[in-house]
Formats: sequence, structure tokens, C-alpha cells
Amino acid sequence: MLEVSNLNVFYGKSQALRDVSLKVGEGEIVALVGANGAGKTTLLNTISGLLRPASGSVEFLGKRIDRLAPYKITKLGICQIPEGRKLFTDMTVGDNLEMGAYSSVAWKRRKETLEQVYQVFPVLKERRKQSAKKLSGGEGQMVAIGRGLMSNPRLCMFDEPSYGLAPKLFSEVLEVIKRLREQGITIFLVEQNVRQTLEIADRTYVLGNGQIVLEGKGKDLLQDEQVKEAYLGL
Ligand code: ATP
Repeated sequence: MLEVSNLNVFYGKSQALRDVSLKVGEGEIVALVGANGAGKTTLLNTISGLLRPASGSVEFLGKRIDRLAPYKITKLGICQIPEGRKLFTDMTVGDNLEMGAYSSVAWKRRKETLEQVYQVFPVLKERRKQSAKKLSGGEGQMVAIGRGLMSNPRLCMFDEPSYGLAPKLFSEVLEVIKRLREQGITIFLVEQNVRQTLEIADRTYVLGNGQIVLEGKGKDLLQDEQVKEAYLGL
């Protein structure tokens, strides 16, 4: 579904990604783990069109997308749930969710999609008129995910959904991610919380200093003592 090939990305003269290649197949949960500053957000921002690569390509469903504007990439079916949630705190929960449906196609379907989002997160229906400012971290993460779902994505990319959440709440987010996959949404999960992430991922890439240093099945990586120590900080 998604194919990233030999991607090189710079901030000015500083290179943040070096020859990064990876694939995400339809229906998979693929994880990307790596330390602070490894380049995880840079990769997601490049896939979603917020950054332009110096070289390399990104293909989605067989089509080159690395020169498209972000809104066109969203319309094709990729959504990004940003690190730190980035909610519109002066708006209500319901309005935050509707902001995710800004493409013309998603806007037409927004009432139906909103009901689907409320089925995934019933608490958001109760809170729909409440200001997003007053939400707990877990509820805020639900709004961020719900807002992404409002664009009717086929591929959902999560940037550190564990950010600011207690481990138990992060486990609940992972349960939601598994349910989304059962509903047919492909998942690309970028995380620093390695152990819980590798438990649910079908395949995992490890990013270190802007390069892919390892790839494998999540559970295999967790069982390899050398890998755990050298790359996963476990
Ligand atoms: P974190 O988990 O801390 O968000 P990350 O793995 O997502 O880290 P990135 O945010 O992609 O890493 O950063 C990769 C590298 O690029 C880092 O060295 C960072 O300092 C640098 N970087 C990120 N954004 C910018 C920017 N806007 N301008 C210059 N350098 C940047």
C-alpha cells in the first residue's frame, strides 16, 4: 500500500533521513521505533507532504505522492495523527472532529463518519459540546484519532500516541488501533514506547540517526537479547 524508497530529507544542510526505504502492506500494523531525534516525525511529515524529500520517492497505492500537496495526500486516504495531539483547544470536541473532514468528499459524508467515530469512542459523543481544552490526555488522544478518522483514511499514521499517557491508557489506545485494523484501516505506528508497540505490530522497523538499522517481526525483535540491548533500549 505504501512504499518509501531511498528517501533523503534535509533541514537546510543537516540531513535528517538517509536512504530510508520501507513498505506497509494493506491490512498490516507496521511499527517504526527509534530514539528521540532519530527522524520519526520527519519521515511521517514527508509521507504526508509537509516536507519535500531531496531525493527518493513515496508511493501510495501505486501512485507517486512525494510531490503532492498535503491536502491531496489526505484525500487519497492517508491521515496523520500528530504527536502531542495538536487539538484546536478553543473549539468543542465535535468541531475538532469535523475539522478532520475538510476534503470535499469527506465533508459530504461527515455525518455518517461522525456516527462511526462515536461508535469507536462513545465518550466523545457525550462530550461533543464540551471545549477540547478540558479533556484529559486520554480523551484528547481519542479526539485526535477521531479527527483523523473523519477524513475516511485507508492508511492511518500515528506519531507517538503514547505521548503524555499513562501505560494503561496507552494500552487502551493500542486496543483501538487493533480494532481500526479489523475495520480495514492499515496502520503505520511510530513510537518510542518499544515494548508495547512491538507486541501489536506485524512488522517493525528500527530507525537510528535517520537510517533504518533493523527490520523484523515485532515479537522476534523482542526475543533477541542483542537487538534489545543495542537498538531498543530494553
Ligand atoms: P522525537 O521523538 O523527539 O520527536 P523524532 O525521531 O521524531 O524525535 P525528528 O523530529 O524527525 O525526530 O528529528 C530528526 C532530526 O531532525 C533531529 O536531529 C532534529 O533536531 C532535526 N529537526 C527536526 N525538525 C527540524 C527543523 N524544523 N529544523 C531543523 N532541524 C530539525
